Amino acid sequence: MLVNLNKVLLPAKKGKYAVGLFNAVNLEMARGIIAAAEETGSPVIMGTAEVLLPYGPLEELSYFLIPMAKKAKVPVVIHFDHGLNKETCIKALELGFSSIMYDCSTVSYDENVKKVKEMAYIAHSYGATIEGELGHVGDNDGICQNDPSSYYTDPMQAKDFVEKTGVDALAIAVGTAHGAYKFPPKLDFERIKAIAKIITTPLVLHGGSGLADADFREAIKCGISKVNIFTDINVAAAEAAHSESISIDKGITEIIPGVVEAVKKEAVKKIKLFNGDGSQRNIFSE
Ligand SMILES: [Zn+2]
Repeated sequence: MLVNLNKVLLPAKKGKYAVGLFNAVNLEMARGIIAAAEETGSPVIMGTAEVLLPYGPLEELSYFLIPMAKKAKVPVVIHFDHGLNKETCIKALELGFSSIMYDCSTVSYDENVKKVKEMAYIAHSYGATIEGELGHVGDNDGICQNDPSSYYTDPMQAKDFVEKTGVDALAIAVGTAHGAYKFPPKLDFERIKAIAKIITTPLVLHGGSGLADADFREAIKCGISKVNIFTDINVAAAEAAHSESISIDKGITEIIPGVVEAVKKEAVKKIKLFNGDGSQRNIFSE
């Protein structure tokens, strides 16, 4: 069933587990993600991001992501991640995405508040949810490496931000980065705890691929309710395509099942890790 973030993240916050967001840039990835969620009986968040649109256009993706979510046996959120332009966010809402993230984390605080507040009003009018970002999650390319903590989310500012904007989820900067890690990340768990203590809005951890299992468990225990994963399933899909292609004699049809299976396997691993004690199953009784 197609749902928005509130339907999956509010129970997650209450039950102290996290729901994974996995981006899908093609049909094979989407099939693997849905299969993983159904096999584990867990809700899932699936979508794409503005920087991924060259690999799978938004409109074409919407033609299968949304029907697949509606048909699924578990709650599925179709989320447009890291929307960078107002127009693209509105297009995602028009196409039927049940959730968006409007990322204004690189502009000034006041500008971030103003833009996200306006977009929250629009998203809510579609019955969709919205995620904002405060502080800046780095890109593993050096921009935040001199003094990473200067980009971390300030707890009091986070409180002000959610109150002023009305976002349904908040991405915080606590030491992770997007893409593959060059150095082992060091998470600021105390900061996650401090933010989770003063705001009720579910918190999101971006740049989760490549983190140690123990770090995920601790971050979720400290108050993270949504974890974004892309690099891990992206690499798993490519490795499967590569290994199948060595013995290829018929064509692409020989590669497709292996890619779907590899994405599913990686997503199942992450979903089980985020589930904690399995209390997510409560969602079906609501
Ligand atoms: Zn992100």
